[in-house]
Amino acid sequence: MLGVVWTFTFLEIAAAAMTTTTEPSEPSDSEITTVSSSSSSSTTSTTTTVDTIINYEPEWSYDDESRWPGRHCQKGGKRQSPIDIKTSEVVHDFTRQFIKYGPLQFSGYNKVLVSGINNGHTIQFSTEGDEAIHPVLTGGPLKYMYRLEQLHFHWLSEHAINGVKYPMELHFVHVRTDLTVFEALGKRDGLAIVSVFGNVQAEVEDYQEEASEFMQYIPRLLNGTGDRISGVLLDMSKLMSSSLDSYYTYSGSLTSPECNEAVIWIIFTAPIHLTDAQYRLFGKVGVGRHNFRSLQKLNRHKVFTPAETKVHIPQIAIYFSDVMKAFAEFFRNFGSFMNSIG
Ligand SMILES: [Zn+2]
Repeated sequence: MLGVVWTFTFLEIAAAAMTTTTEPSEPSDSEITTVSSSSSSSTTSTTTTVDTIINYEPEWSYDDESRWPGRHCQKGGKRQSPIDIKTSEVVHDFTRQFIKYGPLQFSGYNKVLVSGINNGHTIQFSTEGDEAIHPVLTGGPLKYMYRLEQLHFHWLSEHAINGVKYPMELHFVHVRTDLTVFEALGKRDGLAIVSVFGNVQAEVEDYQEEASEFMQYIPRLLNGTGDRISGVLLDMSKLMSSSLDSYYTYSGSLTSPECNEAVIWIIFTAPIHLTDAQYRLFGKVGVGRHNFRSLQKLNRHKVFTPAETKVHIPQIAIYFSDVMKAFAEFFRNFGSFMNSIG
């Protein structure tokens, strides 16, 4: 028995109402924040420097998606994220329709200089220093080279697999190296976000201690919005899935304002692990009720997986009342959502 495995069904989470539109995506800042982030529309940014330090954006909240800035957030689009990935509909890409560029190649992730910040929406670790030393991702569905800009966290997960959510989802946000951030936000493949699910167990085995890589810094970011630490060295290779050739990939959008349809998502099937004590710390970050966008209606989404992938289907919620008690405070605001479980 490996301990309690946490997964959630999302029966109560309604997909946001969406209408189709033929309007092209509009460059703007969002999950990544450009140097001009004092404005919600970064029309003045012409540099690839991403200043995530001032990514507060207090004008939007996860509590009320109907008021998010950005046309695609409100009127929808054709490839909005996150989505529920139905494994029976995932295309094994034998013909290299979407996954055309060989195995994923991660370079420089084992020693990443970052600064950590509590930006009011999440905890985020942004790359510091010369861009030349930032980690770079290529291969898989990616025609171009992508530079890592930042890592942040969602709890619960944003994406779901067959209607099941994980307790956490890590997003590694990358920007095409040949584009400015402003340009990237206007291209369908301007950004690449690598997603890794986090599962929560009562205890983790030695080989499952991936999360300790960042957990030691979390307590220093819990005093409120704006908390920051710099000069942190993370081995992000520990946070990647153990099997780099097992992932889902599709063309989608940012999951925060302004919801630009500019993202190639790469979602690893195998999760990393957190203990319940580690997970509970995220309840103190102070992001409001939660920090995941609601699931979006499927439209032109087509999800692929490498031909050789073994599809990893999460265990349906195994639920224990004593663990529920331990998390009662954390989830006190989930209300009807939690009642739908078990
Ligand atoms: Zn995210």
